[in-house]
Amino acid sequence: MTFVQGLRCRECGRAYPAHALQACEWCFGPLEVSYDYEAMAGAVSRQRIEQGPLTIWRYADLLPADPTSPVDLGAGFTPLVRADRLASCLGLSELWVKNDTLNPTGSFKDRVVSVALTAARQLGFKVAACASTGNLANSVAAHAARAGMGSYVFIPSDLEAAKVAASSVYGGRVVAIRGSYDDVNRLCAELAGERPEWAFVNVNLRTYYAEGSKTLAYEVAEQLGWRAPDHVVVPVGSGAQLVKVHKGFEELGRLGLLEEAPHVRISGAQAAGCSPVASAFAAGADAIRPVKPRTIAKSLAIGDPADGWYALQAVRSTGGALAAVSDEEVLEGISLLARTEGIFAETAGGVTIATLAKLARAGAIGPGETVVAYVSGHGLKTAEAVGARPSATIAPSLQAFAQAEEAWQ
Ligand SMILES: *Cc1c(COP(=O)(O)O)cnc(C)c1O
Ligand SMILES: [Zn+2]
Repeated sequence: MTFVQGLRCRECGRAYPAHALQACEWCFGPLEVSYDYEAMAGAVSRQRIEQGPLTIWRYADLLPADPTSPVDLGAGFTPLVRADRLASCLGLSELWVKNDTLNPTGSFKDRVVSVALTAARQLGFKVAACASTGNLANSVAAHAARAGMGSYVFIPSDLEAAKVAASSVYGGRVVAIRGSYDDVNRLCAELAGERPEWAFVNVNLRTYYAEGSKTLAYEVAEQLGWRAPDHVVVPVGSGAQLVKVHKGFEELGRLGLLEEAPHVRISGAQAAGCSPVASAFAAGADAIRPVKPRTIAKSLAIGDPADGWYALQAVRSTGGALAAVSDEEVLEGISLLARTEGIFAETAGGVTIATLAKLARAGAIGPGETVVAYVSGHGLKTAEAVGARPSATIAPSLQAFAQAEEAWQ
């Protein structure tokens, strides 16, 4: 049982049934899941949530898929870590890291895929597919295996080795495309038309998929004692994650689950080599101009972001900010988080931490704010970005070690 009423166009408001539809036939606007919030408010409570499983499915009442047999590897309810050592480096007083490196396939994509494939199975699909910058492919391949579904995942051919391995091991088809993610995405949009029997999680199932990211807000609020933070920093690829984090906090307020009404400033993080949304923010522009990505943050390398405009509105309407950081700053961000808090993030996490540092320096984050940084993927996925550098390579002798120690003085 769900509280889904149907789908609705985000632009013109037209209503559609809850099928595998993504765009409005009338105005081509993107569709969104609509809920019966009155009925939902009557059913949900903090207590009911707290008695649920330690996964995203504790928030099943707020999600668009029936939780009685979820496609579930245990995504969600990841640690929210108080990061005092990092905070003091950045001049912040209360900083938390949402450690989504600890999801089943090592990124936040497990949240969205678990929701999308649960909905897909209920809609009768037997094959899962996606257009991916890497992490989505890992997660779709794994969840499809768990569900006994076939899978076809499409990735750019220049991905990190670990992401290719972590897609192919599950036994589905992994198709590497000579081109950028935007080329992959265009091909998949065409393929989705030819193969309507495939559940493309981020094409024809996108409305369901995107809703999974709302759990990033629900969990943070619950982990802070049913309190919304003052400010969050979210990495931006397509922009869907950021938009849904905003929506998640708004919904908790609307359902009366928080101590006080939420006033969360939403800030976005991009890599300078692919920063169409941050550039529009800096220019005060309304339109997002597509770019050709060139960055080590491959999981964020989307030159023409589907939810970019909505992300920009969420940032502006909440008084947040967007910034972009260089690849060197990304590496420094990865290293800073690892050295201060013992968390190894992938390049997208480096983007988030480096952007957090930049916004703090610029005064865009207030020193007294409760801040949450969303660290969305595990560092072993992009190990080649940091390289393997032993402090020394020596012969197995005490003398050799003594020499190495001397060299470190
Ligand atoms: C996909 C991805 C993002 C970006 O999410 P969007 O919803 O595309 O904005 C951020 N971090 C990681 C690790 C990702 O894999
Ligand atoms: Zn419409």
